[in-house]
Amino acid sequence: MNIVVILGAPGSGKGTIAGRLADAEELWQHVSSGDLLRQAVKDRTPCGLEAEDYMVRGSLVPDKLIANMMADLMLRINNGSTLLLDGYPRTVGQVALLDETIALCQAHLHAVVQLEVPEDVLVERIAGRCICPKCGAGYHVTNIPPRRAGVCDNCGTALIVREDDAPETVRHRLVMYEKQTVPLLELYEQRGLLRRVPANGRIPEIVAKVKAVL
Ligand code: AMP
Repeated sequence: MNIVVILGAPGSGKGTIAGRLADAEELWQHVSSGDLLRQAVKDRTPCGLEAEDYMVRGSLVPDKLIANMMADLMLRINNGSTLLLDGYPRTVGQVALLDETIALCQAHLHAVVQLEVPEDVLVERIAGRCICPKCGAGYHVTNIPPRRAGVCDNCGTALIVREDDAPETVRHRLVMYEKQTVPLLELYEQRGLLRRVPANGRIPEIVAKVKAVL
């Protein structure tokens, strides 16, 4: 199993780009730590109940909690796949925990892609974001509009704004990204794995640029 980590600030398009890549390549699979956690909260699992408070505040959940969920999932995945990890790891502690899981799965960390987007664009992107509470599909009022305003293309459910996309919470998430996740860039650069991709543009062009560095 090959692993590609997609790194970037909230609003940098990690989920959208990883999703498009996975749609285009049969053996590529998009794994979003945020989606896993949101599902656990919805299902009221013990992990979901523990994670909920952190998520609503826009804080990161404890390293061990998300690392165990990711490890459970990675151990169940077919060996021939390439996993696109969106949102994990996010702290230096999680880098070490991911290394352990990779060794356990006999997987290979192929590359770490950083989606680079200026801060004013991040804020603008998050402001227009909405998701389907049923199937998890993501939209944006101008960049990825649903066919019918406010309704999911896939399942017809009314779209909602994520609780943690409220402006105050977004500011906190951006600060936490700088503090907790930016140090990972240097760490992966030292390992020769980091690929920086300018990601302020049209989605198909960004997808092509990411493919080109993999
Ligand atoms: P996301 O959809 O990636 O923005 O994640 C939504 C929320 O889930 C984050 O604001 C965190 O509260 C939590 N979360 C997702 N991934 C992680 C992670 N790797 N470590 C800690 N918390 C996470």
